[in-house]
Amino acid sequence: MSTSPAPLQTLSNDAGWHDFFDADARRLGADVVALIDLDREREKRSLNMIASASYAPLGLRQIEGTHLVNRAPMGLPGRRSVANCEELDAIEMLAIERAKAIFGSEYVNVQALSSTIANVAALRAILPADGARLLTFDELAGGHVSHGALRHITGAGREVVSFGVTATGALDLDQARDLARKTRPHVLLAGPSSYPREMDFAALKTIADEVDALLFTDIAHVSGLIAAGLHANPVPFSDVSTTSTQKTLCGPRNGAFVFAKERFGAAIDAAVFPGLQGPAASNMIAARAVQMEMIARPAFAQLMREIVANAKAFGAGLEDGGIGLYTGGTDSHMIMAYTGESWTQPQLVAGLAAYGILGNAMRAPGTAGEPRTAFRFGSVALTIRGLSETEAAVLGREVADILRAGPEASVDPARLRRLKDLAAAHPIPSFVD
Ligand SMILES: *Cc1c(COP(=O)(O)O)cnc(C)c1O
Repeated sequence: MSTSPAPLQTLSNDAGWHDFFDADARRLGADVVALIDLDREREKRSLNMIASASYAPLGLRQIEGTHLVNRAPMGLPGRRSVANCEELDAIEMLAIERAKAIFGSEYVNVQALSSTIANVAALRAILPADGARLLTFDELAGGHVSHGALRHITGAGREVVSFGVTATGALDLDQARDLARKTRPHVLLAGPSSYPREMDFAALKTIADEVDALLFTDIAHVSGLIAAGLHANPVPFSDVSTTSTQKTLCGPRNGAFVFAKERFGAAIDAAVFPGLQGPAASNMIAARAVQMEMIARPAFAQLMREIVANAKAFGAGLEDGGIGLYTGGTDSHMIMAYTGESWTQPQLVAGLAAYGILGNAMRAPGTAGEPRTAFRFGSVALTIRGLSETEAAVLGREVADILRAGPEASVDPARLRRLKDLAAAHPIPSFVD
């Protein structure tokens, strides 16, 4: 489908250095910009249902591209080791104060460069250096690799045990309590990455308290739903919470908020900088300050409600088409479909991409806890593009048909046309660079 890029003007080899400092992106890097343009066109033609995907508003992307990319303010607001940070301090304080107010937190750090990094730093700050014990939500059941997985640094040199879900897909709180009593963890860490239901964080708090463990809630996927009041907010009763800036928070990728009780603040600040990172990325922090203002508005809550309604409608469409869902449904933007074992994971990714549909091939527990092949869908990106509930249900039905046809079926041209039309009918807002 790809069209070759139109010839673009480039800088000649005898251009002086001031020429390339003044040239815009198209003149400076025509070949790369052409690829960026092609990627944008591909995105427009696609139905992006990657659960972590959203479209950052134009204004936030503009702020990330300001001259602030050049700034490197070491330290925290009011305590920098370089001069001329007055405005950067004011910006970072806006991000912090707004985040505190929205999520009801005593302390916020906005410098971590991703939610994964935030988890590494926060765990380092609150766990003992030796002999640390963690109780986490199982990765297969829907936890995240940065919650102490063996192949991740958060699991290195730590004793990690995990609880999962019951046969109906509810958090197995009995198992969590048993493991907590048996292993006396320092920290109970949980948050949904591929678990589509609202997590009962309050119940986990009770279990953590019973064994004097700290509670660390990872709300990377659901922080937008929490800000909108659709899911209960665990931040006020958690010792630490982290979230990324994309996903349901709808900001640009690569950022994080760390919320914590005040008493952990200094240790977390130090674990982020200088423990893991260099100076703060002021351009990204500025975008976070504006993002926090954006998500406090009624229009954002309305978007979140539509996102959840679309996820439910899409899931219902899948079920109408004979596809089972992990946990039997969704309370969020995320839908986990059991695809049937005839598909391999690469076949799933390619088979759906052949129709322009994007998501993640993964696994989820079956009713006996056994790993089953699953595909994770999300409704954030398409809802921003204006997908209606009716269209979401129809789309679920189309996907069910594709999944049931199996990996050997050839692409149905009529279905392909319908799905291309659906993508074309929903342009991405302000999708320019
Ligand atoms: C996506 C995710 C992360 C990682 O976020 P990044 O900002 O992409 O590093 C951490 N925790 C959970 C639960 C996630 O789903």
